[in-house]
Amino acid sequence: MINIQRTTPAPPSLASESFTGVKEVLIKMQFNKCYLCERKDPDTSQIEHFIPTNNGGEELQYVWENLFLACDHCNSIKNNVSDKKKPTLSLLVCTDFSTIITDAIHFYCEGKPREKVVITPVLDEPCQNVLDTVFLLNSIFNYHSESLAFDAKVLTDEVIKEMKKLLDLLHDYEFGSYTPVNKEGVLMKITQELSVESPFTAFKIWYIKRNFEGSEFMDLLPRFVKS
Ligand SMILES: [Zn+2]
Repeated sequence: MINIQRTTPAPPSLASESFTGVKEVLIKMQFNKCYLCERKDPDTSQIEHFIPTNNGGEELQYVWENLFLACDHCNSIKNNVSDKKKPTLSLLVCTDFSTIITDAIHFYCEGKPREKVVITPVLDEPCQNVLDTVFLLNSIFNYHSESLAFDAKVLTDEVIKEMKKLLDLLHDYEFGSYTPVNKEGVLMKITQELSVESPFTAFKIWYIKRNFEGSEFMDLLPRFVKS
């Protein structure tokens, strides 16, 4: 999960209580990534209401600020968690830059086979919406019961493979016998991997922060400006 700049104005169809064209705008705004897990080009995705429209949120049905693109898995987990485990779930809003998600939440995955993704608050005494967001994200990647556990494992494996790809590029950059021109090419690929358009950017940002502090790779990380 990373911060996302919401595009304006709102899609015009919402004014007439229709979702025509809304998903396409969300896909562009979120670089076709699920706003929760950051899976890219999900097989199935949907328009998700950040604040659910059942139980009193009906007036938010067509409110642009309440709409995000989510993959099916995250949508199911979010519904499951808010219905059964934590009805008062109060999440960080990723389009609100007053909190920079990747400063408040630590995303850990080193790209090892069978690794378990670990998501924790950065501060010792985090606020409630950081705690709730961490709880939801851990559920998304590490869900243990029912059929959703299988989907969580598939998702975690996607993160591991994506991290391995980044690691291979970092190895190439470090140890490959490249001409300066080729080395520049590898650096461009690394830049691409670390961009907001890439899958699972939050995990990659933290990999660089943990392992390459003070290096040239730090300059390639996306800059989220706190509002
Ligand atoms: Zn997702």
